[in-house]
Amino acid sequence: MNCPSCGAPMHPHGDTLVCDFCHNVVVPDTNDDGVIVLDEAPGQSCPICNNLPLMQATLAKLPLLYCSKCRGMLVSMEEFETLIDALRATQRGSIIQPPMDPGDLNRRIDCPKCHRPMEAHSYAGPGNVVIDSCEPCSLNWLDHGELARIAQAPDDRGPDPDYRDPYADQSDDQTGASDTSDDTFGSLGWKLHI
Ligand SMILES: [Zn+2]
Ligand SMILES: [Zn+2]
Ligand SMILES: [Zn+2]
Repeated sequence: MNCPSCGAPMHPHGDTLVCDFCHNVVVPDTNDDGVIVLDEAPGQSCPICNNLPLMQATLAKLPLLYCSKCRGMLVSMEEFETLIDALRATQRGSIIQPPMDPGDLNRRIDCPKCHRPMEAHSYAGPGNVVIDSCEPCSLNWLDHGELARIAQAPDDRGPDPDYRDPYADQSDDQTGASDTSDDTFGSLGWKLHI
């Protein structure tokens, strides 16, 4: 992108683009995925959309590469858990996810960085998602929507463990003798976490 004031090339700086020449700062729009697209990533192209350049972008203030066409994302393994935690903080986990598509495991795509085949495997966390990884480059590729599925999936820890704890020692005694309204509410909460 070129500077709207002077036309010189702009370069990414955090969530913004900065003009080298006049130091004008542009804050790009956040798109539907919550991604701020900044600038072309030199030499790295989308593994799905043959040779379409990936874009330098940020999501939840963390850097990643993004394809503007298929909306896939390339995220470093170091940033991956931080990114999911950041998204979980804003997108409360409650959406029940569809089962994993076994066909995803048979797809082979090449790493945008080293161009060797990436390894498809099911993500160990919630969301029933197959992700593609390149271990030597420490990169994960996520198709459009996969990151949101992980972030929005119900967390195994339960959305609100503090609420459940006072009733935990009653969980194997559901026919409990003293059914106060508090107990009813408590066992309802317990059922929701199964
Ligand atoms: Zn400028
Ligand atoms: Zn693409
Ligand atoms: Zn690689």
